[in-house]
Amino acid sequence: MTSDSTLRPPVPPKRVHIKTYGCQMNVYDSERMSEALAPLGYTSTDLAAEADLVLINTCHIREKASEKLYSDLGRLRDMKAERADGDQVMIAVAGCVAQAEGDEIIRRAPDVDLVIGPQAYHRLPELISRRTKGEKAAFAPQFEPESKFQTLSTSRDAHGVSAFLTVQEGCDKFCAFCVVPYTRGAEYSRPAAQILEEARALASKGVRELTLLGQNVNAYGGDDGAGATLDLASLVRRLTQIPGLARLRYTTSHPNDMAESLIEAHADIDELMPYLHLPVQSGSDRILAAMNRKHTAEDYLKIVERLRRARPDLALSGDFIVGFPGETEADFEATLSLVREVGYASAFSFKYSRRPGTPAASSTVQIDEDIKTERLARLNALLEDQRQTFNRSKIGETFPVLFEKPGRHEGQLIGRSPWLQAVWAEAPLRLVGELANVRITGVGPNSLTGTVVTVEGGAL
Ligand code: SAM
Ligand code: SF4
Repeated sequence: MTSDSTLRPPVPPKRVHIKTYGCQMNVYDSERMSEALAPLGYTSTDLAAEADLVLINTCHIREKASEKLYSDLGRLRDMKAERADGDQVMIAVAGCVAQAEGDEIIRRAPDVDLVIGPQAYHRLPELISRRTKGEKAAFAPQFEPESKFQTLSTSRDAHGVSAFLTVQEGCDKFCAFCVVPYTRGAEYSRPAAQILEEARALASKGVRELTLLGQNVNAYGGDDGAGATLDLASLVRRLTQIPGLARLRYTTSHPNDMAESLIEAHADIDELMPYLHLPVQSGSDRILAAMNRKHTAEDYLKIVERLRRARPDLALSGDFIVGFPGETEADFEATLSLVREVGYASAFSFKYSRRPGTPAASSTVQIDEDIKTERLARLNALLEDQRQTFNRSKIGETFPVLFEKPGRHEGQLIGRSPWLQAVWAEAPLRLVGELANVRITGVGPNSLTGTVVTVEGGAL
């Protein structure tokens, strides 16, 4: 019998270079786009200068995103002019800037062949073929998450021991500062069967740790295939049944979607790591209300308390915005006080950035840049102090580390602690992909060092 593939003419090899800005979801999307391009003959390259297709996956969350894009496009224009085959090189712009400014990109940058919004990636191969045949530059802005996930294969390439898996996209929360509901569209949860199939494919290729992704991942409510809706806690429970998967994480969560079932999951699922990214943005109720967060500082602190009761070794990370319109010194101090009360293991803090089209952008009480800078420095100093204290508290402890790859020095491996800290230890290469109990002996600015004590399932 002749297989279908033997009838197809061989596809000439081509190379794609993908530059990714922004969050983990963009990293996941870039991997999926790279996989979707493989049937067209594309393999990945780290060098734009040798690529047949350059794809820029953009982020629109804070300003300067479009400036970065246009300076990248300027460099690509020069590269095309210098290369003998420059007129053959295709340029595609994807991600949230593409969604927000698609027509403008095609108008301002005539070298761009394709602009594709985050919910239309499944159309990439088709649009590239059409462009190759001479069709003019296209802007694909559709919001079709359902057909996107149905079309993209669940048979994934594994890029290491740890992988991202998008389970939910979009947002209905409309925080007053944020572009996500406009660039990623309404909340959509993938059906559980699709996620489990993708997770099984990753596990069969050696993935040991999965991070479930979503703009509001804990709002997950996917079809369970039997007419009911599965919440994130139940999805996590099903994922623990997949052989090989040792660790599960999820990000990013909204405080208002922190259901009791999920808090309980932290108490009784060993595979669920004791580390949670739970952004609060501000410690001032006045600012939280102006941000349209629909929770108070007290609500957040109560959730943290319940989580810590369920899982006493749980460490927290968060997102903070300083200088939101109308923020006074007293509001900012309320943020510092919330940070002191919670004690974060790590955090991301940002100056408020005015995003066109969002309600806060038109507020008349914008904060001066130098005040934002000064507040950010004070907040960062406190958060950095907490991060170092948390890291130092691990000295002398022994806990499981999942080894991911060789370290910088011969004979050394680097892995992750349950709290996502980088850990270096002397260990043989065969331990990549294994869990080992490591006793922590030292702490550096961004990592821990330790000694392997025992290895998963046996001796060293
Ligand atoms: N859905 C998540 C939540 O509700 O916390 C956050 C997703 S958002 C992609 C990541 C972070 O970017 C936010 O938590 C917020 O701190 C920050 N961010 C979003 N819009 C911003 C803006 N206009 N200025 C500064 N930071 C912003
Ligand atoms: Fe943006 Fe998160 Fe608020 Fe949604 S919940 S609007 S993604 S900050």
